[in-house]
Amino acid sequence: MKEPSEIDNLFAFDNSYARLPARFFARLAPTPVRAPKLVQLNEALASDLGLDAQRLSSPEGVAILSGNAVPSGSEPIALAYAGHQFGQFVPQLGDGRAILLGEVVGRDGVRYDIQLKGSGRTPFSRSGDGRAALGPVLREYIVSETMAALGIPTTRSLAAVTTGESVMRETVLPGAILTRVAASHLRIGTFQYLAAWGDQDGVRQIADYAIARHYPACAAAPNPYRSLLDMVIERQASLVARWLLVGFIHGVMNTDNTSISGETIDYGPCAFLDTYEPAKVFSSIDVRGRYAYGNQPRIAHWNLSRLAETMLPLLAGSEEDAVSIAQEALAAFAPKFEAAYMAGLCRKIGLQQVRSGDEDLAKDLLARMAANQADFTLTFRRLCDEASDREPQQSARSLFSDPASFDAWKARWRQRLAGEEGDAPALMRTVNPAFVPRNHRVEEALAAATTGDFAPFRTLLSVLAHPYDDQPGFEHYADPPTPDQVVEQTFCGT
Ligand code: AMP
Ligand code: MG
Repeated sequence: MKEPSEIDNLFAFDNSYARLPARFFARLAPTPVRAPKLVQLNEALASDLGLDAQRLSSPEGVAILSGNAVPSGSEPIALAYAGHQFGQFVPQLGDGRAILLGEVVGRDGVRYDIQLKGSGRTPFSRSGDGRAALGPVLREYIVSETMAALGIPTTRSLAAVTTGESVMRETVLPGAILTRVAASHLRIGTFQYLAAWGDQDGVRQIADYAIARHYPACAAAPNPYRSLLDMVIERQASLVARWLLVGFIHGVMNTDNTSISGETIDYGPCAFLDTYEPAKVFSSIDVRGRYAYGNQPRIAHWNLSRLAETMLPLLAGSEEDAVSIAQEALAAFAPKFEAAYMAGLCRKIGLQQVRSGDEDLAKDLLARMAANQADFTLTFRRLCDEASDREPQQSARSLFSDPASFDAWKARWRQRLAGEEGDAPALMRTVNPAFVPRNHRVEEALAAATTGDFAPFRTLLSVLAHPYDDQPGFEHYADPPTPDQVVEQTFCGT
């Protein structure tokens, strides 16, 4: 057994959020669980955070990861926030099943939150039990770690533990806790919470905190708050473009699930496209398609408008001036998104320098994919081979219900590609993943884990750790679902 004193300095916590005014959060410890067991520890991430993986996986470490022990230096808190859920404003949400243990500074010099998700009831739990089921915990683990491996800003997963307790959902399920790592847990909803109370001083303090923590250069700008708003808008525009470029659907883009730092946060009923379908919705609760794949840019803009509203008193002395500043800032979203998305789409078809006609060429491919139920990930991956002069091993054309539709596009594309310098197939392989967490693979892994078999989860995780590499022996993880494997709906399972 390790000495308690050794465990005591496992985390070098420095808790800036807990030094903010008391009304921004509630202080409380996690609720202990019966029989914690480590399911997965992210050793690479632990090392990046300067944490000792061996000690984290010891019984004392697992006690911390399950909320049974509060490590020294931790000041556990549940954060207060509000949010628009499916367009409806809820003035008080908050961490109903999460506890921020504290912050550590990683080897990269960046400050990170260490949060337990599923750690028991808090003053923000409303009617919830404060707990998480194993399936959604592993789902968040898989998808967040894939996003990181894809190079897309995201919260991370440091560990998953089972609790030895059951949670009641539609059925009785094993309980689990995720240790989530984030650049911060500041959300648009955090600003909304304070604004809803008419707490202008609080909004200013949270804005100052966001600047200091995420956008320190804004402090020197002529209007630091305008500059903060610009930065958040820019990060969201870039983030949503990155989502679309890998076929990701967040599924619950509520303002409380929109991070100020620009990370993807809160993986609930998220999913990746199989066939390319702009109006695709997987989430069982998104009955009107508000958060459909192709709607995500519009929703991000809507969410950012809600942020701008909370910041009006900070932007200018008069409301009229403030509104015009906010509108000007928000008007930058669409062109920023469009530029990031189109540049990315052109790179996916091997075009590094966008010339006139390239955007139409790329959009034409998407239109043909949609009309022919072509698989999103596989079409772009196979295009990498189609870009070389050798006969492709596996053709993209067979992914189209009418292969001739692809042939016509390919002829135009190959002509344009001839004028491109550099190794197009190799560059394309760095932006077109072979592997994404396909719904049927995720479901298969979670179903097995729920019965105690973690092997499919671990295999999936290890394949997805290198999404851009061909992995001999694991090709089938790149395959689209067969008709009987198609998953049409995903559930947030909270
Ligand atoms: P989410 O859908 O995970 O973004 O959560 C939305 C809100 O519901 C947040 O305030 C959560 O803390 C809260 N919530 C979700 N699940 C639970 C639960 N099992 N117990 C308590 N609160 C929850
Ligand atoms: Mg949330």
